Amino acid sequence: MTRTVFTSGTPGFIGSGRPPFDARTIHELVAEQAERAPHAPAVTCDGQTLTYRQLNDRANRLAGRLRTAGLAPEDVVGVLVRRSPELIVALLAVLIAGGAYLGLEPDDPPGRHELLLKDADAGLVIAEEALRDRIPAGVVAVVEGPAPERPAAEPTAPAPALPESPDGPDSPDRLAYLSYTSGSTGEPKGVGVPHRAIDRLVRGADWMEIRSGDVFFHIAPVAFDASTLEIWAPLVNGCRLVLFPPVAITLEHVARVVRAERVTVLLLTTGFFHQMVSSHPEAFAGVRHVLTGGDVASPSHVQRLLARYPDLLFTNGYGPTENTTYTTCWTSSTLTALRSVPIGRPVSGTRVAVLDGDLEPVPAGECGELYAAGAGLARGYLGRPAATAERFLPDPFGTEPGARMYRTGDLVRWLPDGTLEFVGRADDQVKVQGYRAEPRTVEVELERLAQVRHAVVLPQADPAGGTRLLGYVVPTDPQLPGSADLGQRLRHELRGRLPGYLIPWAILVRPELPVNRNGKIDRQALPTATRVPRNVANEFVAPLTPVQLRLVELWGDLLGVEPVGVDDDFFDLGGHSLLATDLLVAVQREFGVDIPAQTLYLSPTVAELATALVARMETPDTTPGTTTREERSR
Ligand code: ADP
Repeated sequence: MTRTVFTSGTPGFIGSGRPPFDARTIHELVAEQAERAPHAPAVTCDGQTLTYRQLNDRANRLAGRLRTAGLAPEDVVGVLVRRSPELIVALLAVLIAGGAYLGLEPDDPPGRHELLLKDADAGLVIAEEALRDRIPAGVVAVVEGPAPERPAAEPTAPAPALPESPDGPDSPDRLAYLSYTSGSTGEPKGVGVPHRAIDRLVRGADWMEIRSGDVFFHIAPVAFDASTLEIWAPLVNGCRLVLFPPVAITLEHVARVVRAERVTVLLLTTGFFHQMVSSHPEAFAGVRHVLTGGDVASPSHVQRLLARYPDLLFTNGYGPTENTTYTTCWTSSTLTALRSVPIGRPVSGTRVAVLDGDLEPVPAGECGELYAAGAGLARGYLGRPAATAERFLPDPFGTEPGARMYRTGDLVRWLPDGTLEFVGRADDQVKVQGYRAEPRTVEVELERLAQVRHAVVLPQADPAGGTRLLGYVVPTDPQLPGSADLGQRLRHELRGRLPGYLIPWAILVRPELPVNRNGKIDRQALPTATRVPRNVANEFVAPLTPVQLRLVELWGDLLGVEPVGVDDDFFDLGGHSLLATDLLVAVQREFGVDIPAQTLYLSPTVAELATALVARMETPDTTPGTTTREERSR
């Protein structure tokens, strides 16, 4: 058999491992923009704008406070600030001070914050005033708020000098941020990313042209590495960054901000991108370059978008957090393939190879595992040398001493045109609401609870086209009174420890789990459930009116829960933002009325939604933030 080996000097790998310029630190590059164009707008949020000089000055002042508070080089600093100019000031300040930021999600349970801060050995957190009480005991809070009218007691002079460090204060190899991913052992792992890796993503990229007048958009959680591209690509290149305000994310609101702020480069994670194309394609009217990534892109959605906006540039970006946001990209204005949207070629500063189990390149067209090398590689998992060594291997094709390659766990194949196609995962990892999830993480967390003897968690397709988790537990004591509602109580307990996307949609209590001939749990033999009993604590109240009756049916179908009571909260029953959009589309189809998503977030019960719906049917004029069917089709 002939073997096709893609070479570009290095057998097995294609791409280039080094950008064609010397790497720099991110804060230095932002400071240069502040020098070059001090009055240019840098960050806009909810009508408030910071210029480059204001951003840089405020970040320097806060960096001074961080150093005064004892920050040493490469110390990790938690950042607990909602989307606002203060958030960007905080991130930049950590970098200027020589630290590495760790984005904490305000909506995550305090137990999760505590776990991550402890794992990262972070002794400092920058928090906004309103979130100060979320900071765990023993951690020093540095509160960041809007700048005073006149520079007050704050030090305005340059921040105190950084203590000496072996790699120098402005080394691009210094750690810039920590991003946690779920691990197969149940413990979250902190991926440590150096400045060099961000620099390779956002400067001189060969897959994205950044123009001086471009306007970027930030919406992804800072805990999630899509935010790396969203935030630093504009600020390193002197463009304006628009932040979605710190409110619940709804499609119509995002569409409105994107249009009003004239966003030109828009990154949306895959699930959200699909929904935006389906229900608010007008959002893309002024956008020049749309990027998506994080999950498998649907060819029909991409085709629909490109047919409507032929001048638009579209990128399907692929990559694990361990290789800094993007590893490969497919960029085009046309998609002819119907089978899949390719994930493209390695981005600048990156080499990739498709290898078999013996680390030999596989022939083109055959499926193999994707390995990545180059300047985008993370340093590894903080404080976990064994886990790091397992995934970051010596690069047998590398020419530099100590070169490493990252084993992605993703199965791919080379297509005849030299681009890559994503095939699937080599392990159990799944994407839930856009987040990387290892079902084992949830099993471990369940088995830590005294009431649980065994736990199994499996992924299942959900009606929004995504994946949800379904749990099975064997109780420690099956005779325990109240074991009937054990599943519901366990979900409640998990909420105190895990982020929302890892809470199983349902937990089924079984007297035992089926085993196969080898004595292992037979996961295939577990009963699947598409409907589960109502799993909320409030009392059941039956629907009465025809509108309530129909809404209860729609909720039941989408959430897979029965019976649904009129006082039940959509989000308590397992609803999330993607399902909320589907519900409102179904309501529109059924009743001919558009309900803004904000209404569902503010009035999340069947009874409240029915009242809002009836009011809209009686007075069909538009309220702010509401789009009619006619407006949408324009
Ligand atoms: P992100 O979601 O920012 O891409 P994560 O580290 O959370 O980064 O998830 C990485 C994983 O997501 C990849 O290993 C792959 O399984 C999946 N993934 C990312 N982008 C794509 C894509 N464009 N197509 C298919 N799968 C993708």
